[in-house]
Amino acid sequence: MTKEVLVVGGGPAGLAASHALSSAGIPVTLVEKTDILGGAPIHSGYAKLVPSGEWAKDAIGGMVKRVEDDPGIKTIKNATVASFDGSPGDFTAKLSNGQEVKAAATILCTGFTHFDSINKPEWGFGLFPDVVTTSQVEQMISSGKGVRRPSNGEKPKRVAILLCVGSRDRQIGREWCSKVCCTVSANMAMEIREELPDCHVYIYYMDIRTFGLYEEFYWNSQEEHKVKYIKARIAEVTSDGDKVIVKGEDTLVKRPITIPFDMVVHAIGMDPNVDNFVLSKTFDVDLHHWGFLKRQNAYGVAGATSRPGVFVAGAAIGPETIDDSIAQGQSAAMSVVGMLHAGATQTAAE
Ligand SMILES: Cc1cc2nc3c(=O)[nH]c(=O)nc-3n(C[C@H](O)[C@H](O)[C@H](O)COP(=O)(O)OP(=O)(O)OC[C@H]3O[C@@H](n4cnc5c(N)ncnc54)[C@H](O)[C@@H]3O)c2cc1C
Ligand code: SF4
Repeated sequence: MTKEVLVVGGGPAGLAASHALSSAGIPVTLVEKTDILGGAPIHSGYAKLVPSGEWAKDAIGGMVKRVEDDPGIKTIKNATVASFDGSPGDFTAKLSNGQEVKAAATILCTGFTHFDSINKPEWGFGLFPDVVTTSQVEQMISSGKGVRRPSNGEKPKRVAILLCVGSRDRQIGREWCSKVCCTVSANMAMEIREELPDCHVYIYYMDIRTFGLYEEFYWNSQEEHKVKYIKARIAEVTSDGDKVIVKGEDTLVKRPITIPFDMVVHAIGMDPNVDNFVLSKTFDVDLHHWGFLKRQNAYGVAGATSRPGVFVAGAAIGPETIDDSIAQGQSAAMSVVGMLHAGATQTAAE
């Protein structure tokens, strides 16, 4: 029985799982399909994270460095797993680059794909340059360039953030709540107000789901930063050639509203990873009916999938926060430690 473990995906969940396994003395091979570790927070250039307020490049960058400096973790970038055969304790993974990895178990930490706002054409993305996504605004802030209208480079004076873009939307086959975007948007609204105190920021919402302690972001954004919340159903986003115009119904007073803005921001949701169908075939694991990788159960062996020896953690399972993705990576690592220990005890007894 080999002791090595294969971790697939080098985002927060995969970094946490790799570090936890290595800390327990288990050699790890981490396979990441891009040329950079860190997952969505690094690939998409997130700015300050919620709830910590730390810059993503520092917080997640620290996790990347810890893994890269660890001699117990071998990282293979620009690669995916092409085939995965064998049984617990004795798997063989063949990689897209021709390399072969022997593994006792694997943890899939392959994360999510950002919703592509092109799939919500009536809300103006791709038609009007001043309609952008939360990811794009994160990049404006993290790059130090600041929040500017893409059409003319000017500072916006009025910004609307539209929640639930690509989430909780049965019309486009996305029924799930993406969990983090209310809090991310409240935080972003405050960051915009801090950088541009003259800019009015409005958040259009169906419901606010700043769950648990994240509720602090909801209240602070209103009380300290004067962000305005409009409960509305949005019909469409149009343009008069300069302003972008949000049309809909204020569902509290039940009246149509049409308001011009300098910028409109889509709070995009978390889709299943576009690779999930292939991953489910390669690793022979079940998918949830919405397309995420399916956890076998919530209260048994942490992170178990439908195939013994194959575990899953993080946003691969469904929309998750970074904190929870890290915790799941660590708990799936603990499940692997338990599996290896049970295997070793069994072997010693034989
Ligand atoms: C706009 C936005 C802002 C957010 N801001 C916050 C925030 O402030 N705080 C917070 O807690 N959460 C935030 N989130 C959520 C956060 O992005 C996730 O919780 C986190 O990225 C999940 O980590 P993960 O490791 O599970 O997945 P990911 O970050 O998606 O990492 C997955 C990794 O696996 C790799 N991969 C994918 N497929 C394969 C494959 N087939 N083979 C090999 N490698 C593969 C990817 O390249 C990637 O490196 C935000 C989400 C969005 C959409
Ligand atoms: S977290 Fe908020 S914005 Fe995101 S899908 Fe859920 S309700 Fe909508």
